Amino acid sequence: MPQLIDGKAISAQIKDEVKEKVRQLKEQGISVCLAVIQVGEDPASSVYVGNKKKACAYVGIESLSYELAEETTQEELLSLIRELNEKKEVNGILVQLPLPGHIDEDAVIRAIDAKKDVDGFHPQSVGALCIGQPGFVSCTPAGIIELLKRSNVEIAGKECVVVGRSNIVGKPMALLLLRENGTVTVAHSRTKNLKEVTKRADILIVAVGKPKMITGDYVKEGAVVIDVGIHRNENNKLCGDVDYEDVSPVCSAITPVPGGVGPMTIAMLMYNCANSVCLQ
Ligand code: NDP
Repeated sequence: MPQLIDGKAISAQIKDEVKEKVRQLKEQGISVCLAVIQVGEDPASSVYVGNKKKACAYVGIESLSYELAEETTQEELLSLIRELNEKKEVNGILVQLPLPGHIDEDAVIRAIDAKKDVDGFHPQSVGALCIGQPGFVSCTPAGIIELLKRSNVEIAGKECVVVGRSNIVGKPMALLLLRENGTVTVAHSRTKNLKEVTKRADILIVAVGKPKMITGDYVKEGAVVIDVGIHRNENNKLCGDVDYEDVSPVCSAITPVPGGVGPMTIAMLMYNCANSVCLQ
């Protein structure tokens, strides 16, 4: 049986550490506040926003909620962001994605003050990560690094393969592994002989968005496998990009879905919010 990398337990630990940090800040008269903006009523987004607000309440971060109508114009949204950028008492600004089709997501992300960009999506945050300067790091990949470290998985010198090159997961993931001195390969939909590439990995991170695509024959014996994907199968059960049953006998450690990477994303958002005070 492989080691189960328990995101539920590790994320709870991180949230408790953040709670303590927020308490210490309060003692110094500093409070932390996150503004959460949702445009429209996409049910999945509403669940994510609800979970973020719940996490804020748990760690002692104040959350301000802005629920805007689906037909909100881009200019109206940008104007709200500008207003929040100016507000001293607001430390973090989060715009729940995806946005309705008539709004340019890139323009919205760019409008957020980089010092309040707790999602780590702003080009300035990404650039800082790229050149090793302080800044916010995208929550899901940052959470994966914490999962590895707190499960005693050594990254330095290891062959790390990231499958997927999205701006929010794959690319920042690769940069973080590089920062931890891994030898990093990024694979994507145009990669030839994907199995040969993934089989080189000591640490295999999968963020392809395809249910159960990675089976045991993609994995080297003894590899550590991190599954970023979240899907609902035909029985409404959650599954990942990795075929857990098929890969488990081959690998040495694996994240389950649910209870692996998912809970880490919110924990790292809380971490970024508490940290925003120092960056500001
Ligand atoms: P994207 O759809 O933005 O990116 C998917 C990536 O996978 C692309 O780079 C694509 O390549 C690559 N890809 C697609 N098909 C293949 C293939 N057959 N072989 C190799 N590479 C392939 O997804 P995200 O990065 O946003 O998310 C990935 C998954 O992670 C999703 O299931 C998503 O729901 C989940 N997720 C989970 C989070 C969490 O908190 N646990 C947070 C964010 C995402 P190309 O660039 O060439 O098109």
